[in-house]
Amino acid sequence: MRLLTLLILFCLALPAHAEGFISRLLHKPVPGGVAVVDLGPAANAPSVRYQGKPVLVIHEDQQRWIAIVGIPLSVKPGTAQVQVAGQPRSFTVSSKHYVEQRITIQNQQQVNPNAKNLARIERELAEQTRAYQQFSARQPSNLLFDRPVNGPLSSPFGLRRFFNGEERNPHSGLDFAANSGTPIKAPAAGTVILIGDYFFNGKTVFVDHGQGLISMFCHLSAIDVQLGDELPRGGVLGKVGATGRATGPHLHWNVSLNDARVDPAIFIGAFKP
Ligand code: ZN
Repeated sequence: MRLLTLLILFCLALPAHAEGFISRLLHKPVPGGVAVVDLGPAANAPSVRYQGKPVLVIHEDQQRWIAIVGIPLSVKPGTAQVQVAGQPRSFTVSSKHYVEQRITIQNQQQVNPNAKNLARIERELAEQTRAYQQFSARQPSNLLFDRPVNGPLSSPFGLRRFFNGEERNPHSGLDFAANSGTPIKAPAAGTVILIGDYFFNGKTVFVDHGQGLISMFCHLSAIDVQLGDELPRGGVLGKVGATGRATGPHLHWNVSLNDARVDPAIFIGAFKP
């Protein structure tokens, strides 16, 4: 009887997240981070939704299923829920402090766009949101990503940004300092699902790695792929540039999970709490 009590206590003490290699690396449950939710063993992958959107589910260590949930920056710390086969399952979102950044932009239109540019920005945002909402069946080739360029990290994800003193959207990706023309490589295999030349993001490529895990690469000087192309892990998709709203050449890389933009540093083992 004492043994049974001990066993029950032990089970209650188990964390909600799984303990495998991928879980340990990716479980950063903060706004703009990733929660790994242990789904236990099952014959087939359970279907998981978060905020009504389908979630990436993989089999870890050939024994248990785990859900890899993207947490939007806008989520408040506290208890959050995913739906596992329709049943609620809780996980905890911890807090994270994101610092402020003040940037001076010469082109006033890139801070306070006129009506014509606003209409363009809105159209482009809708197009990009549709791309982020795609959910393909393929399993990502790798969840621990390769760095897309050789170069030091510059602006981190989540910076609260002020352009010419006015607060704008927080930094949705991770920047790498690199010279114009540096090749950009796919951090995992994927399909090119959107190519654009956008007001803010400049020349841009979206790569779908599978199950809602999607990368966006911005400010390119050249795009070396076409819509629908299949990229192997490490395949070159374009070159670093400074197109769109950029103060100099760099790569801006977004990573999205279940339509939530999350910190790409998590996926390359460079996350800072
Ligand atoms: Zn950036």
